[in-house]
Amino acid sequence: MMQYVSTRGAGAVTSAQAIVRGIAPDGGLYVPTMLPRFSMDEVRALASLSYPERAGRVLAAMLPDFSCEELTEMAVEAYARFETESPAPLRTLKNGVRVLELFHGPTLAFKDMALQMLPRLMRGAAVKTGETREIAILTATSGDTGKAALEGFADAPGTSVTVFYPLGGVSLIQERQMVTSRGKNTHVIAVRGNFDDAQTGVKRLFADERFNRAMHENGRVLSSANSINLGRLVPQVAYYFSACADLLGQGLIDGQHPLDVCVPTGNFGNILACWYAKRMGAPIGRLICASNANDVLTQFLSTGVYDRRRTFKKTISPSMDILISSNLERLLYEIGGAEKVRAWMRSLSEEGVFALDDRERALISENFLCGSCDDPGTRAEIASVWREDGYVMDPHTAVASHVLRTLRESSKPALLVSTASPFKFGLDVCAALSIACDPEDAFDAADKLCAATGLAVPQAFAALRDLPVRHQRVCDKEDMGQAVLLDLKEDKK
Ligand SMILES: *Cc1c(COP(=O)(O)O)cnc(C)c1O
Repeated sequence: MMQYVSTRGAGAVTSAQAIVRGIAPDGGLYVPTMLPRFSMDEVRALASLSYPERAGRVLAAMLPDFSCEELTEMAVEAYARFETESPAPLRTLKNGVRVLELFHGPTLAFKDMALQMLPRLMRGAAVKTGETREIAILTATSGDTGKAALEGFADAPGTSVTVFYPLGGVSLIQERQMVTSRGKNTHVIAVRGNFDDAQTGVKRLFADERFNRAMHENGRVLSSANSINLGRLVPQVAYYFSACADLLGQGLIDGQHPLDVCVPTGNFGNILACWYAKRMGAPIGRLICASNANDVLTQFLSTGVYDRRRTFKKTISPSMDILISSNLERLLYEIGGAEKVRAWMRSLSEEGVFALDDRERALISENFLCGSCDDPGTRAEIASVWREDGYVMDPHTAVASHVLRTLRESSKPALLVSTASPFKFGLDVCAALSIACDPEDAFDAADKLCAATGLAVPQAFAALRDLPVRHQRVCDKEDMGQAVLLDLKEDKK
């Protein structure tokens, strides 16, 4: 039976327990003890199914506590709010590159693919494990996770959700999306610090016994909606299978000609899901990890040295402004096992650096390529793709597009993963395309972008204009626990 163990060595739990807990008691991430395997025929057979049915099959293979029917039903509900017929449609660019668009959900970024599923998985898992306490979700966000978690969990029975974001570290639209969140059980707190401060603060709260006790006394148990939660990872595996099934059906790829995939990467969650899909039998070739100017992953994947002792840069692709990529730990576990992971993580937190040996490095370079793109390169990429293809990309997608163009072997089929709607980052997209707009007003940018490109404003964006601000708490990074308790006390019941 497939179970989950911690990357740092803690014992096996069921898939339902792993989802409820979010993070393992020793601070590690849950990883499968073995991965299920799909034959090429099974992957091909997905092509005739709807997206929720495809997701149901892939998730059922990874989550043995849930039935395929149950998971398909969850996926039907989860993806009903997406603005396209399939939540993960493919487009073709002139050079033959396929684009997997994952941004048609309620918050206009790919996080919705997982975070519309997570509350449903969490509720199901709570029932299966006999958990009756309220599940209090704590999450740090670099911009997109926060709103997607708030949307997913708003008024979901038996849950509350608290989101921390770096004050001044997210785009105006991202902030506006969060502070206007509806729902009696939603909480949004700005932290004076950067994303890594917020993420480290949340990790510390999970390990803080006093804080946990205070929550338990309130009838609550902590869990995480960050991309370290298994319930975030598995819905992401599904769209890689879905894309492969479509492209097998179109004859673009086959067992001999696998798909190279380029992913704009921050916390390493999306690309890790691609890696799992590959190991589960999806015909995927090389995984290309694209970073912005915070290119700590590019350095790591190419040299084997992970060194976070560098300056954190704010870029126009803020959801990738990360120096500590949490999900990398799952890949590290496969390379070195729990003991090595513990040593590497200790070294990372105490010295800010760790290094792989040559054998470990070779294991990575067999499968992963990497590259980075700074802000000027990102703007140039947005402009040239629009000029050549008439396709408008958001800055995150453009980072990956630039990297793919540099590393692509044109004879090989390639997939570019698109993670956000250009409207979510309309000011930067307008600047890149030299479209005049009020530089302070993202709504004006959206209008001008429509007029210039013929795109329609997504409904989820248009609705944002008139919503009132409902969340205004700000705290120092040392006071995050206190802020949670204060906020929950005032829970708008
Ligand atoms: C979160 C996010 C990313 C990074 O994804 P990871 O899974 O953290 O690597 C890239 N682009 C956008 C738009 C995002 O919201």
